[in-house]
Amino acid sequence: FTIAAKSVILATGGWQCDKEMCTKYIGRHADLSQAQCVPYLDGSGIKMGVEVGAQLSRSFGSFYGHPQPWPTSYLNGIDNIDGYENVENIDDVHVLYYGTTEHSIQGMGIYVNTQGKRFVNEGLGSSLVNQEVMQQPMARAYLILDEGVREIIRNTPFCNAAVVGGDRIDHMIELGMTVVQADSIEELGAKIVAETADGVSFNAANMIATVQEYNEAAKAGTAETLDVPHAGVVPATPLVTGPFYAIPVVGGIMATFGGLKINTDTQVISTAAEPIAGLYAIPGAAGGIMNGDYWCVMSGYSVLGRISGATATAYAQSLEA
Ligand SMILES: Cc1cc2nc3c(=O)[nH]c(=O)nc-3n(C[C@H](O)[C@H](O)[C@H](O)COP(=O)(O)OP(=O)(O)OC[C@H]3O[C@@H](n4cnc5c(N)ncnc54)[C@H](O)[C@@H]3O)c2cc1C
Repeated sequence: FTIAAKSVILATGGWQCDKEMCTKYIGRHADLSQAQCVPYLDGSGIKMGVEVGAQLSRSFGSFYGHPQPWPTSYLNGIDNIDGYENVENIDDVHVLYYGTTEHSIQGMGIYVNTQGKRFVNEGLGSSLVNQEVMQQPMARAYLILDEGVREIIRNTPFCNAAVVGGDRIDHMIELGMTVVQADSIEELGAKIVAETADGVSFNAANMIATVQEYNEAAKAGTAETLDVPHAGVVPATPLVTGPFYAIPVVGGIMATFGGLKINTDTQVISTAAEPIAGLYAIPGAAGGIMNGDYWCVMSGYSVLGRISGATATAYAQSLEA
């Protein structure tokens, strides 16, 4: 359809469903990431803006999301996935990783990549950890926990109550999600290879050495000085009490930060650095408002949406006058 209009506001959201854009802007394996949203956020508004001469913003490399247990899929619907028959609420699939630094289970274990190596300070907030997961081979990682950490989760009210309630690992198992369990770290390594390979190799020997190194540092109180520091509100806890657990995750994207460049009136800026007459955009179709870490989405975007409505209306009315 061609619709004649005096003003146009692009409010088409982000681009996390366009796998080509994910690989181009986020990381070489970001096409394997999970778009944690409706399946229509394909950057089409951004592409339309570019076609009429718009400039892209900064911030295409950072985004908001959480590590997501895999295998799972938002796009295909959970009903079609083996083992997810008991999931009634799609939010159950990802909220297991919610929580700020001190309350999220990932801050209490360690993440290793497919090479069995740590790559991020797990004490960072979930969205920053997720951005690092995205840069790992296959955009995948494994959260390693032990029964001692699980006991802390059970007995820490915020951990239990934050989103799903109760013991999150129990909840994941109830939902049929993949939680590898073993009586020793060595057995855990073998089981990760056997149960989660899915065409991806996993270096169990490196993982065992990584856990040993981390445990020694945690016991000595020196985890903050590891090559990849482990530092957060929760002190590093040695992973020494069986059973041991591994939760495979893939990087997830809920909101992208890059889009069309706008000014404070939400006018789209051209490649000649001038506002394009009658064209407005709001984030996620517009970008560059956030960079690095997530600090607000809907609140800030609502403000810009309101500004956009007012300025676009005023422009259309000025043409009528
Ligand atoms: C699971 C999840 C949890 C979140 N949690 C929070 C939170 O707690 N706090 C927070 O602040 N933010 C949160 N966010 C982020 C926030 O919801 C989004 O960033 C925000 O909704 C973006 O608003 P928007 O209007 O730009 O885009 P959207 O709300 O994504 O809407 C864009 C719409 O445009 C449509 N569209 C796309 N292309 C076209 C086209 N070519 N033609 C016509 N229509 C098109 C899409 O179908 C969609 O309906 C979360 C996001 C997700 C997915």
